[in-house]
Amino acid sequence: MRIHKLDDELAAKIAAGEVIERPASVVKELIENAIDAKSERIAIEIEDGGKRKILVRDDGDGMNADDLSLCVLRHATSKLSTESDLRRIMTLGFRGEALASIAAVTRLTITTRTAHDDHGNCVTLSGVGSADGVAPVPAARGQGTTVEADDLFFNLPARLAFLGSPRSELFHINRVVQHAALAAPHVSWEMSHNGRVTLNAPGVSDLRDRIAQIYGAELAESLLEVRADTNTEAGGIAISGYVTPPDFHRGNRRDQLFLINGRPVTDRGLGFVLSRAYEGLLRRGTYPLAVLRLEMAPEIVDVNIHPRKEEVRFSSPRRVHDTLSASLQQTLASPEAVGPILKSGTRESGEVYISGHPPNRERSGSRADLAAGRSAGEHGRIQSTTEPGLWSGSGQPSSKVRVMEQLRGAGDASTGQGFSERLAGRERRVIGQFQQTYILVETIDHLEIIDQHIAHERILYEGLRRQWAESEIPRQSLLVPARIELSFESAEILQEHTAELAELGVEVDAFGGGTFLVRAFPSALAESQARLGFQALFEQLVDVLDQGGSSRDAILDRLLTELACHAAIKAGDRLPLLEQEKLVEHWSTCEHRTHCPHGRPIVFQLHRDDLDRRFQRK
Ligand code: ADP
Ligand code: MG
Repeated sequence: MRIHKLDDELAAKIAAGEVIERPASVVKELIENAIDAKSERIAIEIEDGGKRKILVRDDGDGMNADDLSLCVLRHATSKLSTESDLRRIMTLGFRGEALASIAAVTRLTITTRTAHDDHGNCVTLSGVGSADGVAPVPAARGQGTTVEADDLFFNLPARLAFLGSPRSELFHINRVVQHAALAAPHVSWEMSHNGRVTLNAPGVSDLRDRIAQIYGAELAESLLEVRADTNTEAGGIAISGYVTPPDFHRGNRRDQLFLINGRPVTDRGLGFVLSRAYEGLLRRGTYPLAVLRLEMAPEIVDVNIHPRKEEVRFSSPRRVHDTLSASLQQTLASPEAVGPILKSGTRESGEVYISGHPPNRERSGSRADLAAGRSAGEHGRIQSTTEPGLWSGSGQPSSKVRVMEQLRGAGDASTGQGFSERLAGRERRVIGQFQQTYILVETIDHLEIIDQHIAHERILYEGLRRQWAESEIPRQSLLVPARIELSFESAEILQEHTAELAELGVEVDAFGGGTFLVRAFPSALAESQARLGFQALFEQLVDVLDQGGSSRDAILDRLLTELACHAAIKAGDRLPLLEQEKLVEHWSTCEHRTHCPHGRPIVFQLHRDDLDRRFQRK
């Protein structure tokens, strides 16, 4: 084929593809325009995940008829005129290509009115990147702008085919809106999907209040403030925002937002600085929640490096990172940050009882323990005082339970006598715990080193699986339902899967906003999970559900794995010898003894001969 110039319409569609990837990109551009127009109220209406309809209504400056006819042209903008302006961008938009791009791939209607006009004006376009503007017609409207973009990609079937389900497109939209709402707390935000209100956040003066609207008041109250003020005009960086204290963490990184001069951006470097600041404070695989605003002179940050303006480049990344790092360190070293950890402390004796209560103590004692447990707090206490059946969860024959009972009577956990001695003639003898993480076991010819967490996870998992396969997983009601707070998108995911969770004995009720109440939990896990708290668990469950793509059985299985993992005793938990013995005993009857359901090894064996060789006995 000879070289020829593409016709305007095709060229416009290709260019639009850079900017408009999916419905969420349209939403992002439209709300950026509304913010740039100094709006105080922004309302968003979405239908079918934005595939059918995206409408953004604002009460901002509006446009007069002349501007309206120009705004849909490519490279038409009111925000930039000379090249030097490009180095000082303080608006969210600047390229003048969003409306042109949206016009090229949707059916677009813009209605707008300024404060000076006595009537509004309207233009309608349908899949045309118009070359010379469009003639506005008069329309009734108060001050502000309404943009409606329908039938995205109706004229680009190849692109349309790549869009996700309405549900998954809605997740992306929610994320964009949530970030914008956090970036602009003074603005009132409303959003609906298919007529159902999904966000209603009246304008507030403080970021913490906006965080409360989105993540819940409880989380917002616990937040630590981050603040660093340097003279931004002299090339300094001002930082403000909030992070969660170390004892309040999330199961994923989704809730970390960096706002550079008010613009939500993804930046691996900043994410890394945040993780580093929490190093050693959080368990692996958990993350802080953070909303951090970095303000700096526009000359030292290039916002023009990404087609959808999702990334920026700092002229001196080191300085930005160091400033952030220092202010996070200061925040995390403050008494408020350290306080809660000291206060909560460990449970009374510092020992963990796998069966949820000390062997020789009364049940009421264990309830007191539970109430003292920090994460349980007011919530999540257990109603039933029947044997929580953690071991019954492993499906042991009842004779075994009786044996345990006898042993419990005969031996005293603190002296370490009893069970082990009785086991002496049998297969295994527990020697003890190494660094409160590994259990050392003697067999006839091996030393076994067992990871206590992974072994326990395996026991719980197999028990739950068996119960589930046989009939149903026994559940226990929580005396005070445990409250969890989820972000928008997480809440949507959870809501869609409450039936699956109920099948596994996990009963949750949506309580509005992102709040859920956990009402019942599998009996075998309830007591230990209540002690640990439910928040991180549910975030992880949402992650599992969000992976999608698998059969229902596979999803249920992954959920079981997650439930077992969270309720299992942890590395670092001190176990009395009797509990170690019970753990090993139950593990030795597991169907798959060598690996946890995630695939991590449970046991490491060292043969007597290997030791002999090492010590040159042989
Ligand atoms: P950019 O935002 O990069 O300038 P856009 O294509 O998004 O480019 O918008 C083009 C112009 O249309 C903007 O510069 C602005 O003047 C005007 N405009 C767009 N949306 C609005 C709005 N909601 N309120 C007022 N003016 C708007
Ligand atoms: Mg714009």
